Amino acid sequence: MSASPELSIVVPLYNEEDNVVEMQQQIDAALAGRDYELVLVDDGSQDQTLARIQPGPRVRVIVFDKNSGQSAAMHAGINGAAGAVIVTLDGDLQNDPADIPALVAKLDEGFDLVCGYRAKRKDTPFKRLQSRIANFVRSRFVGDHVRDTGCTLKAMRRDCREALLLFNGMHRFIPALIRNMGWRVTEMPVNHRPRIHGVSKYGFGNRALRATMDMFGVRWLNSRRTRYVIREERKSQG
Ligand code: UDP
Ligand code: MG
Repeated sequence: MSASPELSIVVPLYNEEDNVVEMQQQIDAALAGRDYELVLVDDGSQDQTLARIQPGPRVRVIVFDKNSGQSAAMHAGINGAAGAVIVTLDGDLQNDPADIPALVAKLDEGFDLVCGYRAKRKDTPFKRLQSRIANFVRSRFVGDHVRDTGCTLKAMRRDCREALLLFNGMHRFIPALIRNMGWRVTEMPVNHRPRIHGVSKYGFGNRALRATMDMFGVRWLNSRRTRYVIREERKSQG
């Protein structure tokens, strides 16, 4: 693996002890022959997640002192990534690493962020309904034009990460924040699988209300965001 690999794969992990080994194997199989690093972020797991991570030359592990949330874990991994392209995915095997090459190839069509959307979602009917309403409202309210921000499987050019200000809940607004800074965003269908091991970290109570409040904040933030281009830098004389 080179010091600046082609790809960084970033995975947030919170109590995923029965998923992490299989996930690493699936990533290895999907990316055989490619120059990539795997950045695993252990978000204060209380189970055996950290102990079960398989070490290797491609594997880097960031360990939080305590559970700090999926947004924090993704932010740490994305900021710590050395690759030209950064791919994020869930560590519970619901996303399929086999989709990664197609997402990365899509960037070459002239995009900076490619968002996966779960065409055939394998979650409970209640969760799918919540998600459908949330996506309908959010995509219009913040103007991200993305049908499924809850799908962690995304590929971005590394420069896009400057748009990702950290706040609790940021991970749902990655397309909104990146698009607002002028980057080109698209989406494509990806596979989705049921969660076999471990439990979802979210329910109605800790997702629906928070994500709704965050929408207002992101809309305000995006309306106030600014960019500058430095024409030149001069040494002062004297
Ligand atoms: N996650 C995390 N910290 C948290 C909550 C979740 O790192 O505080 C990780 C979790 O281990 C998984 C991903 O974020 O890899 C998505 O979580 P989950 O599968 O519970 O979300 P859902 O599929 O229910 O939307
Ligand atoms: Mg999941």
